Amino acid sequence: MRGAVLYAPHDVRVDDRADPKIVEPTDAIIRLSATCVCGSDLWPYRGIESVDGPSPMGHEYVGIVEEVGSAVNTIKAGQFVIGSFFASDNTCAICRAGYQSSCVHRELVGAIGTQAEWARIPLADGTLVATPDIPDDDLIPSFLAASDVLGTGWFGAVAAEVGAGKTVVVVGDGAVGLLSVLAATQMGAARIIVMSRHESRQKLALEFGATDIVEERGDDGAARIKHLTDGLGADSVIEAVGTRESMLQAVHATRPGGHVGYVGVTHGDLPGDQLFFSHTHLHGGPAPVRRFLPELIDLIWNRQIDPGKVFDLTLPLDQVAEGYRAMDERRAIKTLLTVNH
Ligand SMILES: [Zn+2]
Repeated sequence: MRGAVLYAPHDVRVDDRADPKIVEPTDAIIRLSATCVCGSDLWPYRGIESVDGPSPMGHEYVGIVEEVGSAVNTIKAGQFVIGSFFASDNTCAICRAGYQSSCVHRELVGAIGTQAEWARIPLADGTLVATPDIPDDDLIPSFLAASDVLGTGWFGAVAAEVGAGKTVVVVGDGAVGLLSVLAATQMGAARIIVMSRHESRQKLALEFGATDIVEERGDDGAARIKHLTDGLGADSVIEAVGTRESMLQAVHATRPGGHVGYVGVTHGDLPGDQLFFSHTHLHGGPAPVRRFLPELIDLIWNRQIDPGKVFDLTLPLDQVAEGYRAMDERRAIKTLLTVNH
């Protein structure tokens, strides 16, 4: 099959890869309908995270089940399915508590590489969720968004305890930040302030329900949020970048007693004293997207949300290199890769 492989920083190519096969009886093989490039794929692409030899890429996926292992009971061949970046059994105590991305049997789908024609998905019954029927083609981008960025933005909003009537701040205008705006709108937030300096991203944030845009960053950004919230700070702040600066910007924009939901992969140490005196609740981590998939699939199937709008570049899988370049240079928010079989 054809699939994306990262050879070295800035050198990603579509190459011949071995066709996936059932390895464990709990596996499924899916034929990808579409896949995409994640902001987190840019860490190894930029050489910030080292790669150990040629690495298959991709962890976001939707597709048709082609084959299932002998121990798979609920997922069937022919279904259209969505899964997340951690395979999970969905039955252990951690999964049952809603933290499937820390499942005791979790497996990282990124190591499998879903920027490809086919993929082997472990723990298929726990990991995959099927749509009610085969969806119309125009819904595929939105289901693909549910695989990671929508689910992650949704978790950010849940972790920040977004709710009816609350004032929400979103730090970060990538796909996850933008979709946490959509999530906050769905959860009934009264005011949604997005911190962004990019016009096209500001426009999409407003389409998803943002009420205010703040262009200042760091301490100036936090001061601007205080100014907009009677000097108090926001009830709920979603951090969707993952730098030390953005995390502190989020903490300082939150009112005492408020909640920070952080879903950017944190890079850099945080000062304990500033966290201590902030009096904020901090909750985050790798999003348990699986927890939200049934609800998100329902909203998309019934056309109540349109998260697929975050894909502003669509390319065939064979042009994956341009897909990465466009995101690296911030010419694209997120690249969708079509797969022709
Ligand atoms: Zn589990």
